[in-house]
Amino acid sequence: MNPKYRKTVIAGNWKMNLLPSGLKDYAGELKLRLPKDRACEVVLCVPAIMAAPLLRLLRGSRVSLGVQDVSAEASGAYTGEISAAQLRDAGVKYVIVGHSERRAYHGETDELIGRKLQRVLASGMTPILCVGETLPQRDAGAETEVVRTQLKLALAGLDAAAMRKTVVAYEPVWAIGTGRTASPAQAQEMCREIRAAIREKFDARTARAVTVQYGGSMNPSNAAELLAQPDVDGGLIGGASLDPVKFCQIVEAAKL
Ligand code: PEP
Repeated sequence: MNPKYRKTVIAGNWKMNLLPSGLKDYAGELKLRLPKDRACEVVLCVPAIMAAPLLRLLRGSRVSLGVQDVSAEASGAYTGEISAAQLRDAGVKYVIVGHSERRAYHGETDELIGRKLQRVLASGMTPILCVGETLPQRDAGAETEVVRTQLKLALAGLDAAAMRKTVVAYEPVWAIGTGRTASPAQAQEMCREIRAAIREKFDARTARAVTVQYGGSMNPSNAAELLAQPDVDGGLIGGASLDPVKFCQIVEAAKL
């Protein structure tokens, strides 16, 4: 628990990077450098094929395993898909849903993302729901409306108890993989807005309890300032999570 009385979650998103043959080295380095105190939750969202072997390598450590997508269907004839039940059975605890790359390259709609969210929750795992505006949307001054609409549609079927088990990640699309980070003030403003939207849909207790992360080019040099914002409860980290040294430095920054 952080002083804000909600969980700080530092989650890596490897995307389609690294190889199974490199897991041993990564895990060894991570175990060596990871701060021992449990000031925050540490998660690695990896390609699904690497989840089980990495889980074995990290057994006994404080790291939880996550993946980057899930099927919206429960089971059956859906070639190439992976179900929430299969992930859960393999030891996965977190699932990213609605990442902007899935919205952009796989045509994922808010409705589909909402169904995936419910599957993850029903299987007892924690969803990390990604929301965020594109650069043209921000330039047009529409960022708040865009994020509020994404939230409204994806959260439509949730009750307050389910909402409290959900992590929301604010990821401005223009900051993902670009090296261009939102300023701490921009990150804070939208994370506060997200909490306000949760309060309006659910209640104040739920809004206080939900972990809201910032994601977008977070790295060891900007993490402390971003994570110090009152409504920023952690980070979703792409590029910098591929290097265990940098990832551990961000985990360290979450303590400050
Ligand atoms: C992400 O993929 O969620 C992300 C934030 O990537 P990066 O840190 O590389 O911008």
